Amino acid sequence: MAELDAYQRGWGQGWPADRRADTVTVTDGQSVKLAVHRGVAPIVAYLLGQTVRGVGRNRGYALRGDWCWGYGNRAIRGSNRPSNHSWGLAVDLNAPNNPMSPRLVTDMPEWMVGLWKSHMFRWGGDYRRRKDAMHYEFIGTPDDAERLIIRLGDVTPLVAPTAQPGDDGEPVLRMGSSGPWVVKLQTILSGPFGFALGKIDGVFGRRTSAAVKKVQRQHRLGDDGVVGAKTWAVLNAGSAPKQISLTLRSSGAQVARLQTLLNEWKKAPRLATDGQFGERTRNAVIEFQRAVGLGADGIVGPRTWARLLQATGHAA
Ligand SMILES: [Zn+2]
Repeated sequence: MAELDAYQRGWGQGWPADRRADTVTVTDGQSVKLAVHRGVAPIVAYLLGQTVRGVGRNRGYALRGDWCWGYGNRAIRGSNRPSNHSWGLAVDLNAPNNPMSPRLVTDMPEWMVGLWKSHMFRWGGDYRRRKDAMHYEFIGTPDDAERLIIRLGDVTPLVAPTAQPGDDGEPVLRMGSSGPWVVKLQTILSGPFGFALGKIDGVFGRRTSAAVKKVQRQHRLGDDGVVGAKTWAVLNAGSAPKQISLTLRSSGAQVARLQTLLNEWKKAPRLATDGQFGERTRNAVIEFQRAVGLGADGIVGPRTWARLLQATGHAA
């Protein structure tokens, strides 16, 4: 895409530069508190307020504070390009109900999407490949933002300098942890990483723990199930495991995930997602590998996995 990134639009450096000092926390007047760039803060505050109150005859769309986040010092998942979150120019709203997905999954009303778009926020639900309905990002320049703010007039709900942690301030999570950070963890594990966690409930239980351990093993981080800085870095970095080898007679959650992805790819006969790597799964893998020009050995290593995530819109 020949589109300008935030740096080119005049917002300075993004990830890996730490821009937290340029953020302030805005609120919807209720439970939502988001860290965003001070240059767009009044716009975000206005949009949050309109979103929860409703516009005209449209009833408001309720936001849950623990399902929303803003600033995060990170790259776009699955890439080494800075995410708009790293400038504080993007927000994620009600993540569990608006997950990253190959097909659009959202509970956001049309008027709300229109409201944000009319204030120069692009909606992740419009992305061409992987849909990211929770995500809104400001696509204007600092001058555009200033003009919008003048037009909006007085917008009050700004809350002082940002106390909310950015991604590099992420807390250590372990079995028994709960709250918004666990929602975030589960959203990443079930979205880009593709684990079947059931409900995203913000409670770090056994399924979450098993998924974390698996990721840790794949990246040679030990497997204590404790999400510290190194594990967060892996989770924030992307979706393709560095160590993966699935082959005939492999079994488990990752095979089930493989089967789901192959079904999403759709060009092979539908597979049961039973987590058992049998002949049919192997044939589907070979078919996929042939189709994308990989060596057709029927073994799923990091390259096949990464290509499959791409082909199904799970990775950029
Ligand atoms: Zn986002």
